[in-house]
Amino acid sequence: MRYRRAVITAPKRIEFEEVPLPTPGHGQVLVRVAAAALCTWEQRVYAGIDTWSYPLVGGHEFAGTVEAIGAGVIQKLAPGDQVAVAGLRRCGQCWACRRGYDNICDNAHAETRVPGTPWGPGGFGEYVIADGYQVYRYPRPVPPLEAALTEPLACVLHDVKRFTPRRGDTAVVIGAGIMGLLHVAALQASGAYVVVSEPDPCRRTKALELGAHAVIDPSTEDYGERVRCLSDGRGASVTYVAVGSPNAVELAVNAAAKRGVVSVYASIHPKGTTIQVDPNIFHNKEVILSGSMAQDHEDFLDAVSSIARGTIELKPLLSAVFPLDELACAFDAASRPDTYRVFIASE
Ligand SMILES: [Zn+2]
Ligand SMILES: [Zn+2]
Repeated sequence: MRYRRAVITAPKRIEFEEVPLPTPGHGQVLVRVAAAALCTWEQRVYAGIDTWSYPLVGGHEFAGTVEAIGAGVIQKLAPGDQVAVAGLRRCGQCWACRRGYDNICDNAHAETRVPGTPWGPGGFGEYVIADGYQVYRYPRPVPPLEAALTEPLACVLHDVKRFTPRRGDTAVVIGAGIMGLLHVAALQASGAYVVVSEPDPCRRTKALELGAHAVIDPSTEDYGERVRCLSDGRGASVTYVAVGSPNAVELAVNAAAKRGVVSVYASIHPKGTTIQVDPNIFHNKEVILSGSMAQDHEDFLDAVSSIARGTIELKPLLSAVFPLDELACAFDAASRPDTYRVFIASE
């Protein structure tokens, strides 16, 4: 048997290929993909901004059903079970894993990549082989598009778990793209006063729809002044920077409350970018500047539970669905400012 997958081979170039359907080896699970979301990484590869990933079988945010189970898979799984797959590799044996930081495992990228051979998470294909530990079973059926958001939700839960605002605190989310909006959704349970800074008016409206208490337009308003005003003069206790802008990090540090935390959630390009802040802010106000990377296995489990139990609002973030063959159209749709998550789905 063969299956179809999409390979991004060059900027704006997608080739479809039929490859043999693998049989799951020891400890492996074969998953039939039901839905996969287009994330920033794949969009950067398709657009030609990231040029070192070709030829890539993208799709790291995906969910589907169990097709076949290899010997030695310990967890209880049966064909047809709905599952999400945490693509991130965790060796369980390195210093980071043993400290409980398996989101930043030393061996996360140990997979050997053969130059010129398609590689990648594989969600933009009909089937994916995963290691058993990467597979998380849904206890009850959920809409496939929501299940495909397990991975990004888990990443956001990681950030909010690391830097949790107290009830009544001011929490600011900079950027109302999908990741910023997922932060807003995840912060609903915190009791914090949630402020979103975003120049796009439609996205600000979306943030309010998802439960933000106030919004800032940084293109016309003074960010620091607005944050101080909205926090009764104290500043932000937690700021999540969900936009890849060094200037946003500087603004966030300057508008932090005493003992406030700034978390750099989005990666900032190019690598080597620097910021300028007065170090006395850290001394005088005990401000903490940190960040958040991917998700650990607990976050993934929490994301599955949240989606399965319907305790997180994801529907406003589902923008459009395309069949695999129209992946190029899906990329065009995903690059528009009025879409949040765009998906490839099998039916
Ligand atoms: Zn992603
Ligand atoms: Zn490790």
